[in-house]
Formats: sequence, C-alpha cells, structure tokens
Amino acid sequence: MQVPSFSILAYSALFGTISLTSCSKDQQARPAQPEQQAQAQAELAYPNQTGELKTGEWGGQPVSYQEINGDKVYEGDILLTSEQLATSAGGQQRPGSAGRTTGRWPSGVVYYAIDPALPNQARVTGAIAHWQANSPVRFVQRTTQTAFVTFRVGSGCSSNIGRTGSQQYINLASGCSTGNTIHEIGHALGLFHEQTRADRDAFVNILTQNIQSGYEGNFTKYTDLGYGGTDFGALDFGSIMMYGSFSFSSNGQPTIVKKDGSTFNIQRTGLSAGDKSGIDVMY
Ligand SMILES: [Zn+2]
Repeated sequence: MQVPSFSILAYSALFGTISLTSCSKDQQARPAQPEQQAQAQAELAYPNQTGELKTGEWGGQPVSYQEINGDKVYEGDILLTSEQLATSAGGQQRPGSAGRTTGRWPSGVVYYAIDPALPNQARVTGAIAHWQANSPVRFVQRTTQTAFVTFRVGSGCSSNIGRTGSQQYINLASGCSTGNTIHEIGHALGLFHEQTRADRDAFVNILTQNIQSGYEGNFTKYTDLGYGGTDFGALDFGSIMMYGSFSFSSNGQPTIVKKDGSTFNIQRTGLSAGDKSGIDVMY
C-alpha cells in the first residue's frame, strides 16, 4: 500500500520552485532551497523551541529530557509521562528501537479516538490503514476503555511511548503528514528511533559538531543511558523510525552518515521491510 507523504518543507520547496520560475522575469528569483530541506522532516514536539534540560529516572536509570510547556520531551518527539519517570528501579525497561519489553498493547489491539477538532483526519485514518495493512496491529475506536490513544491538534508531531495505561496522545500540527503520523503511531506501539540502537555505531557515524544545540540527546544510544532493549536485524536506513542524514543539522552539514561517509534520505512514506519484521516479533 502506498501512503502519500508530503512534508511542509517539501511543499515549501515546491512552491519555492514555482515562485522561482514565475519571478524570474523580474529578477526577483530567490536562491533554490538546499536539497536536504526538500526531504521530509524528522518529527518534533515543539519546533523551534528548546526547554530546560532535565535529568530524571526511568526504569531505575537516568534519562535526560527537555521540559517544554510542561511536557517531558525525549528524543525530540516522544512525550514521557510523569508515571514513566516515577517508575521505580527494576520496573520498566526501556524498549529497543524495534522491540520492547513493556508497554505493549494486549493482543495488538490499540484503542483510539480522534478529536473532532483535528483538521485533515485522513492523515490519521490513512496511517491506521497503513499499519493495519502491514502489521498484525489492529485499531479499534474506543468506547469505554481507559487506555487509549487520542489523536489531537498539537504544536508539532509527538506521541507518548508505548501503552501508558490511560488516555495518551498523538499530537499533530498542520505540517504533520500521513507518514509522520505512521511514525508517531510507531512510538505509541513502543518503538524508539532507529539511530538510538545499541549497535548503531557499527553502521553510522554521528557528527555531533553539526547537531543543533539542545538536540544532541536525539542521537544518544539507549545503552549509553543505561537501558536494556532489543534490536531486531541490522540497522535499517529505510525505517520510518530512522532520522535522515540532515535531521537536526545546525549548519546544513550532515548529522548522521554511513560508515563510508555517504548520506542517506529520511523516509516517511511507510513501514520498511525491517519495520514490518520488527513489529511482527513484538506483536
Ligand atoms: Zn519520533
């Protein structure tokens, strides 16, 4: 199944090209957008905002997050709950990039609701249809269940991680595409970002000097934070949970490159073969 994915930047680049053409006669052409800006964007809960860097404890291990507008933002677009941060030692174990040990949805059934105020709800129904066509996970509209996902308007694209046990949210700003929504559902199912895998250094180099200040934590291996987890298969450059080479770049230079130094594109069209096999093991 093909799911269209149009980022707001892709639209910007497209419009930029159109205006470049239409303005060329009066010499008002603007410089072309850098190539990497035409790529889909990695998700952020609060674009252009950074919060106070805080350290808490999750599953008995230290974890760094940013507090922005009262939310505990981890890896850019994951919202940790107060309950998760309060989990005592020996409790939850942090999930791996494509697998996890807690917070799964029983029988792979996710109960959900869509806030009537959310514009363009086809992003949600399209993302749900994609997950159902490509995984054993099923989505059922919530009736009286206490644990469910509500899709609602947000400042950016963000999600809680795993099943929290109560109402949890996937927040979608107008720029969040169907592909971004598929990604956020991945977090709600318990998936972390592919580049935080324990074994990622065998596949990529992280160019810390090019990362926007305040976003370095988006590139931290979960094992560096002391978490256990499960990684399935090899690092998947095509994963919908993987950043692109230029994600969170401060200077237009890459933040992640392959071991041979080459760059790669971010993918927000749909689940990769690796995503599917990982989620099959989980669910
Ligand atoms: Zn994410």
